[in-house]
Amino acid sequence: MNMIYFNGEYVEDQITISPDDRGYQFGDGIYEVIRVYNGKLFTAKEHFERLLRSAEEIKIELKLTVADYIAICERLVKENQVETGNIYVQVTRGNAVRNHIFPESSEPVTFIYSYGSERPVQGMREGIKVITADDIRWLRCDIKSLNLLGNVLNKQKAHEAGAAEAIQIRDGIVTEGASSNAYIVKDGAIYTHPTDNLILNGITRQVIKQCAEENHIPFVEKTFGMDELLAADEVLMSSVSIEVTPVIQIDDRTFNVGPVTRQLQAAFEEKISSL
Ligand SMILES: *Cc1c(COP(=O)(O)O)cnc(C)c1O
Repeated sequence: MNMIYFNGEYVEDQITISPDDRGYQFGDGIYEVIRVYNGKLFTAKEHFERLLRSAEEIKIELKLTVADYIAICERLVKENQVETGNIYVQVTRGNAVRNHIFPESSEPVTFIYSYGSERPVQGMREGIKVITADDIRWLRCDIKSLNLLGNVLNKQKAHEAGAAEAIQIRDGIVTEGASSNAYIVKDGAIYTHPTDNLILNGITRQVIKQCAEENHIPFVEKTFGMDELLAADEVLMSSVSIEVTPVIQIDDRTFNVGPVTRQLQAAFEEKISSL
């Protein structure tokens, strides 16, 4: 039995979503993925603060507070006995007769579920292969929206090329992965795209920034292009699911896993063990 939170109630195994759900018809909603380590939530407050921000940006009025969401997640983790795993949270604008305009009155539809998922140890140890792809997404990539077609198409492109992720390029500038943030290391400093409307401000990115600062590694939030990407000393990517993962190949160019990446991985590991 797996307990799921659905619109204020706790139910077992199954929920029913209406065909009129605007998430289903328009992708009109937002989501979060939160990591669970040793039965404990990792950076849950940051995730729900971001959920509240995403909701505000698309004008969905949430009924719950950050503390409410965390309490729900803790209950699910406990009831479902998740040790290492994820929590998925989705909120849509709700059910209404199909019309692009916001409905006059609709209740948000919320579900939260948990599931076991092992850590990506192989990728973290050995590194991953990625491709580069045009960033074809909309101009509000800062919102963790359910509209993921651009991301899905690039991720599929990577998969078909035998790669794990796509590093997306917009107007010659490296933005981020299809579901992760991207970084290069050059002469001992880490570079990554600034947090504006063109990337999602990853919670793992925030943790990496903190790790870098604590280890006196310069963390530079500045755009870089394809040339700098390919001339990097190290390349790495991050997300809740891939943590701190080195990149060992971009298209035909290969890279080594470097010391800065290893140092960040060790610092990240410490944050997990001090939970
Ligand atoms: C979720 C996501 C990330 C990574 O964010 P985390 O909070 O670290 O998981 C990066 N880019 C995109 C497009 C995402 O959807």
